[in-house]
Amino acid sequence: MLKSIYLQQVYSDLAARDPEQKEFHQAVREVLESLDLMIDSHPEYREAALLERFVEPERVVAFRVPWMDDTGRIRVNRGYRVQFNSAIGPYKGGLRFHPSVNLSILKFLGFEQILKNSLTGLPMGGGKGGSDFDPKGKSDREVMRFCQSFMTELQRHIGQFVDVPAGDIGVGGREIGYLFGQYKRIRDSFDGGVLTGKGLSFGGSLTRNEATGYGLCYLTEEMLHCMKQESLQGKRVAISGSGNVAIFACQKAQELGAKVITMSDSNGCIYDPEGIRLDVVKDIKLRRRGRIREYAQLVPGSEFRSDFRDLWSVPCDVALPCATQNEIDAETARRIVRGGAMALAEGANMPSTPAAIEVLREGGVLFAPAKAANAGGVAVSGLEMCQNSMRLAWTFDEVDQRLHQIMLDIFHNIYDASVEYGVPGNLLDGANIAGFRKVADAMLAQGVC
Ligand code: GLU
Repeated sequence: MLKSIYLQQVYSDLAARDPEQKEFHQAVREVLESLDLMIDSHPEYREAALLERFVEPERVVAFRVPWMDDTGRIRVNRGYRVQFNSAIGPYKGGLRFHPSVNLSILKFLGFEQILKNSLTGLPMGGGKGGSDFDPKGKSDREVMRFCQSFMTELQRHIGQFVDVPAGDIGVGGREIGYLFGQYKRIRDSFDGGVLTGKGLSFGGSLTRNEATGYGLCYLTEEMLHCMKQESLQGKRVAISGSGNVAIFACQKAQELGAKVITMSDSNGCIYDPEGIRLDVVKDIKLRRRGRIREYAQLVPGSEFRSDFRDLWSVPCDVALPCATQNEIDAETARRIVRGGAMALAEGANMPSTPAAIEVLREGGVLFAPAKAANAGGVAVSGLEMCQNSMRLAWTFDEVDQRLHQIMLDIFHNIYDASVEYGVPGNLLDGANIAGFRKVADAMLAQGVC
């Protein structure tokens, strides 16, 4: 329940305007509940209609994406770019290609991105885009033709000082390569900093692939250390997902001495009591674009279950949901609490529902929200932009060290904000407030625009 009448009004106007945008409302509501702790001491926000402006994207573009499949048939998808907030830097955020993509999902992701990017300490605004195109089951040529058509329209809306897209679900190195090639061809200009997540041979950054998963573990380790005098060493870690975030979270957790026991994809989950063999997962998912069920056929002693939610019935010490939004509801959260988990850190964007977060909090589970915990990906995107501007490339260790420091800074910044606002250890409130403050200052300084 929001105490502030002002915030109540902002929320009810928003919900009335686009009643069907449930995911977007969920993300906004969660942030407003945190801002409720500080809004009374900032009458200037209300005078400048700051929150009304903050929850409305600066620009949304939607466009047709026609492309030809391998049989010669013309197909049509819908493309979007949500340019949410540019107060502290050019719009920055990934592109998602998945059949579930709609404006509600992209607005929630773009909104979260504003705060996440602010927390990295780098000068990046918030945005998100994508399409309902499903790359699964498509040939390389089909993906290329789709990406070329998508960029033919998107290119007029982006630029290294305007809006810098990157990957997200369904958009990895292959797609970024095709998108970059088309941008370069149409603009007749090698603007390295217009996209991040590029291949290493044309301006990509070392550590970008690993960044989200590694950053998730760095922040989790610091949280365990500072709030429970614990570490990942010897812990049983449950990971969901088997994409880029999950794979590199698994790799870093194992390097830090944890035993990762689960992974999943949309068709089911695997449990390996001996610890996940990452070489096998990488071979299935990264090299062959296969299904996680193959793992159980290849590794004796492991199990496959066709309901990916079964993963959360396995007792663990640390939960790292790295699949997609709203995967953890109240019932799943109860299972995680019963399994004895001490911490949950979000690798995916908004994997936990508000009711789940409540259950975790009551169950004494440390909770690190996505906008802090998975900020490592976009942080290294920011470092990629920096290297592109300087026309040089840092080593893997150089980028990794910077990433590590950024994640430690994020943890301490959000923890300190939680203490300052009287909710010590509530990292969700801390992240929302700390991320928001910087953007709000910039918006106030720039006047009504
Ligand atoms: N899609 C990632 C995220 O959710 C990375 C975005 C980027 O690198 O711009 O933060």
